[in-house]
Amino acid sequence: MRLALKIDVDTLMGFTEGVPPLLELLQERDIPASFFVAMGPDHSGRAVRRLFTHKGFLRKMLRTGAPRLYGFKTMLYGTLLPGPPIAASAPELLLKITAAGHELGLHGHDHVFWQDRLSGLSTTAVQAEILRAQKVLVGILGYPAISFAAPGWQCTPAAWDALVAEHFYYVSNTRGRYPYFPHTPQRSWPLVEIPTTLPTLDELLGLGGRRAADCNRDILAVLKRGGTHVFTLHAEVEGRVCFREFSDLLAQVQARGATFIRLVDYAKELWQQPDLIPRAEVISGTLPGRAGTVCCQSQGEEQP
Ligand SMILES: [Zn+2]
Repeated sequence: MRLALKIDVDTLMGFTEGVPPLLELLQERDIPASFFVAMGPDHSGRAVRRLFTHKGFLRKMLRTGAPRLYGFKTMLYGTLLPGPPIAASAPELLLKITAAGHELGLHGHDHVFWQDRLSGLSTTAVQAEILRAQKVLVGILGYPAISFAAPGWQCTPAAWDALVAEHFYYVSNTRGRYPYFPHTPQRSWPLVEIPTTLPTLDELLGLGGRRAADCNRDILAVLKRGGTHVFTLHAEVEGRVCFREFSDLLAQVQARGATFIRLVDYAKELWQQPDLIPRAEVISGTLPGRAGTVCCQSQGEEQP
């Protein structure tokens, strides 16, 4: 039983307030993790537009208490307040992440832009967005990222093409069951995709009246079945208001004898025997507790 922690950083608040306590917790427990940071501006306020355009968003906001999770100010960035840069606001934090031995990958440049506009972007436009993120990272660390996690699990053929063109070592763009080479009926991409296999806390919260502690039980139940799992957490949530519950989750996972692996190390294992990596179709799907659609690994193919 192995667990990879994929820590998404979507907002400035998640970066400056959520990442430091998470780093401390991981160090205390001697756990390696993979951080994916949105490098550009925090335009979270624009996501409020989804209140009006995406079915189910308002219900989710109210159920999960999003204003409490994300903070009122964050919800105005990019609308009433200008969107502040995320990575450039605290470059020392990126250095701390890598100095601690964690993996640091890209979670896009402008998270909200990717999530809302990706479907209309050409390969060149997606590449430009990726290069903007790399430029910020190179300016701070001196080298580019080799891994990418799509904001909001949104991916299109143009985005897969752009990620191949930018030579990422692996990506984590979808929700699914095991790593694979993605394809559609028309296209396929020579890119290892390592999907998020477990539900997220913000999806589970409130489903059937669940509280954060109940969510841990659900996650542990899936983990018990064995294999390597990928859990996506959000620095805004698990690094702040659900910090205690997340800390409990790690303690329980370790008590059950599970080990932790960085996604990049998982990818290294996979690339050692590329012939054994299956192909799987990527489709647009919905998940319990999440508004809108996300890119998913098709249910149709069984792991060889
Ligand atoms: Zn995100």
